[in-house]
Amino acid sequence: MGTLLNGFELAKKRRTELKDKVDEQLNKGNRAPSLTVVLVGDNPASQSYVKSKKKQAEEVGFTSEILILDKDASELEVLDTVTRLNNDKNVDGILVQLPLPKHINEDTIILAISPEKDVDGLHPLNVGLVTLNKGGTKPCTPKGIMTILNEYDIELEGKNALVIGRSRLVGQPIASLLLHKNATVTIAHSRTKNLEQLIAEHDIIVVAVGIPDFVKASSILPHHVLIDVGINRVDGKIVGDAEHESYEKAAYATPVPKGVGPMTVVSLLENTFETYLRRIEREEI
Ligand code: NAD
Repeated sequence: MGTLLNGFELAKKRRTELKDKVDEQLNKGNRAPSLTVVLVGDNPASQSYVKSKKKQAEEVGFTSEILILDKDASELEVLDTVTRLNNDKNVDGILVQLPLPKHINEDTIILAISPEKDVDGLHPLNVGLVTLNKGGTKPCTPKGIMTILNEYDIELEGKNALVIGRSRLVGQPIASLLLHKNATVTIAHSRTKNLEQLIAEHDIIVVAVGIPDFVKASSILPHHVLIDVGINRVDGKIVGDAEHESYEKAAYATPVPKGVGPMTVVSLLENTFETYLRRIEREEI
């Protein structure tokens, strides 16, 4: 039986460490880091995500605010809100919760967020810097995955990594981060053929497609490191993109729930804290 990579416990440990770092700054007389989340509309899943982000931000000593805009808010209204937050010196991190209502162009909004305050790591400047391995803010889910792999000392150099899914949120950036750690990376997507064979030929499998039970337990080999990013609701339960039995067949696996999910939120807090520290260094605070 393999080892489960416990993202839930690791996220808890990292929140404790972060709280200590925040306390250290408060003791120096600095104000608390601050995160503002913009929510447009009333999507229930988004509402629950933003509440959880605010709660966890406050637990580590940040101040946090959720700005709620009506589901019919215009693109201009969202842009105005983002501009105001960009210029607000008491705001360190800005996160616009995705997806946005269909009448708002997500790219336009993301482009408007100051790259310095883009704690989701989605602004094209950050995407470019991260892709080039030249710094930049890493997107939260891929950052969280790398933190787990590092915590468990999982060797990446020279390993064959298969990323299933090519989204800008997960698939593409995790492929870059694995490449920068000298893994040999293949990206599979909806048009890829012979996925079963590819899985058998790789050591590290990251699956982010959003289809329950997409990776079958029968495909998983004892040497595999399986990172299940999927969050799917089935009969009121959260399940991943890999069959549950596959976790025990792999050498290492992140289960769903309690794997990658909690690491995503703690990475958001870490990104916000890093932004805050940079702003202190530049004497913007
Ligand atoms: P997405 O819909 O943007 O992308 C899905 C990707 O899967 C696409 O690139 C597509 O090419 C690929 N795909 C679809 N069908 C395929 C097939 N048959 N074979 C191979 N590839 C196929 O989704 P996303 O935003 O990357 O999210 C993926 C999953 O991860 C979802 O379940 C989402 O909820 C979850 N997610 C979890 C976290 C977390 O914190 N754990 C964060 C973000 C996303």
